[in-house]
Amino acid sequence: FFIAVEGGDGAGKSTQVDALAEWIRAKGHEVVVTREPGATPVGKRLRSILLDVSSGGLSNRAEALLYAADRAEHVDTVVRPALERGAIVISDRYIDSSVAYQGAGRDLSPTEIARISRWATDGLVPHLTVLLDVSPETARERFTEAPDRLESEPAEFHQRVRAGFLTLAAADPGRYLVVDAGQEPESVTTVVRHRLDQVLPL
Ligand code: C5P
Repeated sequence: FFIAVEGGDGAGKSTQVDALAEWIRAKGHEVVVTREPGATPVGKRLRSILLDVSSGGLSNRAEALLYAADRAEHVDTVVRPALERGAIVISDRYIDSSVAYQGAGRDLSPTEIARISRWATDGLVPHLTVLLDVSPETARERFTEAPDRLESEPAEFHQRVRAGFLTLAAADPGRYLVVDAGQEPESVTTVVRHRLDQVLPL
């Protein structure tokens, strides 16, 4: 079972991923927690290139392809092998981040970005995508860990990214859980657990 957790910077993804992993493990399942970009040795190098040059040193199409390369390696060497042995995989970001950031955020076609990722992953789609939705203003107040990352793009960029995620969720409501991530983290976890209780093969 494959779960992707998506959302903008400062939405609280890593907190939720950790809380959910602990909860599912306590039920006796193998859980693999992973992330994009940067879950594999090559991915770590790609992540450092992507984050070093995120403020303008890389063409938009090259950036999109490097994210797709990171994802291809990630799916091939981490996600598929884990799913094949029956583990529950939780990925902090997946295809939707590319569609939202490189597609909606930059000036590239979200449809084409999605197509590149579909090829990169050989069509691996999560069973459930949890979208942690938060306004860029709330995210900014919270995201003290690396504020320069948020500041490196204008507010409109983050608005477009947020709208990009919401458009994806609206197009496939059965596969998405959209949670108001402006709530307390414990409340967010409760909402996600409730949904997982219904869909997980536990
Ligand atoms: O989620 P995490 O903090 O690891 O993401 C690192 C950065 O990469 C984020 O600040 C996000 O803006 C950026 N990113 C991106 N496009 C993606 C995934 C992440 O611009 N597809």
